[in-house]
Amino acid sequence: MSSRSAGSLSIAVLYPELLGTYGDGGNATVLARRLEWRGIEAEIVEVTAGEATPRTCDVYLLGGGEDGPQTLAARELLGSRALHQAVDDGAAVLAVCAGFQLLGTTFVGPDGAAHEGLGLLDVATVRGDGGRRVGEIVVEADPDLGLPELTGYENHACVTALGPDARALGRVSVGYGNDSGDRSEGAVAGRIVGTYLHGPVLARNPALADHILASVVGLLDPLDDPDVDALRDERLAAAHRPHPITSTRRWARRPGRPTISGIRRRR
Ligand code: GLN
Repeated sequence: MSSRSAGSLSIAVLYPELLGTYGDGGNATVLARRLEWRGIEAEIVEVTAGEATPRTCDVYLLGGGEDGPQTLAARELLGSRALHQAVDDGAAVLAVCAGFQLLGTTFVGPDGAAHEGLGLLDVATVRGDGGRRVGEIVVEADPDLGLPELTGYENHACVTALGPDARALGRVSVGYGNDSGDRSEGAVAGRIVGTYLHGPVLARNPALADHILASVVGLLDPLDDPDVDALRDERLAAAHRPHPITSTRRWARRPGRPTISGIRRRR
């Protein structure tokens, strides 16, 4: 961890061109801003596929993506094991959706087959039945984490089961999350946080951002977030309010109906 002692932090965004479908890159900006607002310098390092992944950053971010790019990202990280070393050396990791799935033991590739994951989280992902899990999601965080309700949105076809060495980030109150029958969402192990929450999740949940930062720099001074509080109130209200389009539902193909990309909006 190169720079922590010097009062600056490095945040690595892994393969944004492969794992950047759902705006999760914004999580890096949130972390950097929350550090700068406390007088701590922050450097965002974008790593593209084929480039050597740095082993000495303080925080590593992985976003969501489709099955194919997800498989390429996993292959790169399994090859270099740079993330494994960084975690061993005390780095924190936030992995969202496809990023979360590939940190597990196995996940599903574009061929529908099981692919080897990084094994940094004791979770296994399989293709879920029916269509994609799409919509707003609300999570009661594990009380031990001392976090408020988490808000985000989800869009995934696969479901994830927790192994004995993983504990859930929380329990789903609205939406699907891991959707493995136990209402669990995400997984936490040491300084690693995996979740299905897009948003970007840290923009909607600054307490989670501070939780991740505190895991590498120690306790942080509290910050006022009136705008974010207003956003959270609005999104949480929307999630709890049943709505024909935005409430979480399983989008299944119906004969003669256009696929997900052609969702018909009710005017
Ligand atoms: N491709 C994975 C799935 O469908 C992850 C999707 C995502 O990252 N949003 O489950």
